[in-house]
Amino acid sequence: MRRPLVAGNWKLHGTRAGAASLVEAIASGIVQLDAIDVVVCPTFLHLADAAARIAGRTLGLGAQDVSAEAEGAFTGEVAAPMLAEYGCGYVIVGHSERRARHGESDADVAAKVAAAAGAGLVPIVCVGETLAERDAGETLDVVRRQLQAVLTQIGAEGFAGSVVAYEPIWAIGTGRTATPAQAQEVHAAIRAVLADAASELAAETRVLYGGSVKAANAAELFAGPDIDGGLVGGASLDATEFLNICRSAAASAASV
Ligand code: PEP
Repeated sequence: MRRPLVAGNWKLHGTRAGAASLVEAIASGIVQLDAIDVVVCPTFLHLADAAARIAGRTLGLGAQDVSAEAEGAFTGEVAAPMLAEYGCGYVIVGHSERRARHGESDADVAAKVAAAAGAGLVPIVCVGETLAERDAGETLDVVRRQLQAVLTQIGAEGFAGSVVAYEPIWAIGTGRTATPAQAQEVHAAIRAVLADAASELAAETRVLYGGSVKAANAAELFAGPDIDGGLVGGASLDATEFLNICRSAAASAASV
């Protein structure tokens, strides 16, 4: 059985003090939730404080991006081994905001996944279609292409242990959520791509849904058989809301 995962993507939010108190509230709030993994992904600058605060506790830590390079003349970048040294276990790769605003291609995303996995981090690989692509009936093709690019470049073995996040771009930060049936359809297609690469990959890879997940819709989304938790943006900045989403993931695990 796959262990559910809920990851909070804090994006470019938070003061030093605010990030510290959010980490504290979440780390304290998840002590009973031992059937799921919970991860927070603050900005690079807030990682060290967060790592110190969660040391010895069950809350996991992730970054929001990583360089494909291990070291060298790459101004402004942060390497995967640096993230690992600072206590990160996870890193979000290929978020649609980075694909759109920073021009990250499928090949760039694959190189970052390889760098992250090589440093022992769990990449959370984001895939998802635009509204135009969905309206044109291209959703499954887009998602398959994005995932296949990573699998082709790093192979099934290199991908083992990674997490996939299906994030329809039209649902991110918009308040519009995919219906549970829409999400489940894409998650099943993602699992089929994984199965083509290796059957264990399909069985073991956690596939998260992301896109306006809230406490009010988490339970119905997480009920899908191929949905193993969520990547949560806006709602992860509110400890009470985020913890309620985590409780829904724990309840979905208990009901399997
Ligand atoms: C995200 O940015 O990964 C995300 C899912 O955001 P939101 O939950 O705010 O839609």
